Amino acid sequence: MLSVDEALQRVLECTRRRPAARVPLADALGLVLAEDVASDIDSPPYDKSMVDGYAVRAADIVDGHAELDVLEEIMAGAVAAKTVVAGTCSRIMTGAPIPDGADAVVMQERTEFVDKFAEVLPLTPGTSPARGEGKISPPRRVRITDEPPRPGQNILRKGTSLRRGDVVLHSGRLIRPAEIGMLAEVGRAEALAIPRSRVAVLSTGNELVDAGKTPAASQIRNSNGPMLLAAVRQAGAEPVDLGISRDEPGPLRERLAQGLKYDLLIVSGGVSTGVLDLVPGLLTALGVREVFHRVRVKPGKPLWFGMRGDDVIGQTLVFGLPGNPVSSFVGFELFVKPAIARSSGRETRACHRMMPARLTSDFTHRGDRPTYYPGALETGEPTAVPAVTPLRWAGSADLRGLVDANALIVFPAGDRTFAAGEIINVEKLDE
Ligand code: AMP
Ligand code: MG
Repeated sequence: MLSVDEALQRVLECTRRRPAARVPLADALGLVLAEDVASDIDSPPYDKSMVDGYAVRAADIVDGHAELDVLEEIMAGAVAAKTVVAGTCSRIMTGAPIPDGADAVVMQERTEFVDKFAEVLPLTPGTSPARGEGKISPPRRVRITDEPPRPGQNILRKGTSLRRGDVVLHSGRLIRPAEIGMLAEVGRAEALAIPRSRVAVLSTGNELVDAGKTPAASQIRNSNGPMLLAAVRQAGAEPVDLGISRDEPGPLRERLAQGLKYDLLIVSGGVSTGVLDLVPGLLTALGVREVFHRVRVKPGKPLWFGMRGDDVIGQTLVFGLPGNPVSSFVGFELFVKPAIARSSGRETRACHRMMPARLTSDFTHRGDRPTYYPGALETGEPTAVPAVTPLRWAGSADLRGLVDANALIVFPAGDRTFAAGEIINVEKLDE
């Protein structure tokens, strides 16, 4: 039987990165960029004001004081009509282009109007403005009381942030909101990226009914289907719900064949040694090559993994996760998540956040397989070794024990009592 590490290595050896495709920006969050992106512009594209205020000639302001005629108001998106000459300035808003002749901007807060109450002009000429209506006439003269301005003050020069032709993002970069903004700034409405893998989830079992139903005697609700679909989404892939199949060769085979149209297929249940555990046999008959069956791990030993097709386009990876909910959960964490990451061009190392923690209580572990045991990890001081408490847990069918967990404690194989205070590895779960 393979160890967890050996099995993971086999999975990753079989997993190809998906081919890159053009993806609209709105769908690119969380994907990995597959091209170097160069800027098609200088940014800013012109010398621009960083504040609301007055574009001045620094030399006009002696000892920080001056009274200047205001030539015009320049709004963001407008172009200056006039050149600033000695004794004049132009009112300017944040983001507007600096007018010719000016070499500094004095911020609004360091100025006052000389014509104290600028006149309120009616919206319709010839009428008198109602309260709150109308527009303020531009100030005609302004007094400046600032430190003597430095030339260039409050001006962001053309091309300071980036220059046309600069590579602003390299291939391999994870696309976060900031990268989306960057792509938009340099004119990319879409980017070449590794698209999301499509992952089908099929739950098997004659005993299963949907979450919305009341189970009859001997039935249980399908908790794995919704859980795995959510886990797929959290892992950054696109889930496809194939629902529930009965453990009958005909319908099950048909549903499995449907699942093989996707990049990954996750089957829950039916991979163990029961009379109706038909999944491995049917998958093999459908041309899926078994890579391994069973892993030295608890819970989740009967896990099955195979693949169909070797080329990138036609490849489907198939995971048969044991039906007990915590087995399915752990199998997903250990093997499916890294496969999704690799097929998406992301780091697989980031999937497993193994870290040392200090046990808060004694714990006796028995068994010849390592156990991934639900634990509550205290996330206090980031520098200290955190404390971890094994939760009440009745084994692989006990989903409730997992609900309070934010980590899996990894107890190594063997019978042994771990004392409170001992350091042990834990695997942090996603928030
Ligand atoms: P199996 O792997 O099919 O032998 O199932 C193992 C155990 O998990 C059985 O007790 C099943 O009833 C249970 N089980 C299987 N599939 C699911 C599911 N989708 N949701 C909840 N429990 C399940
Ligand atoms: Mg079953």
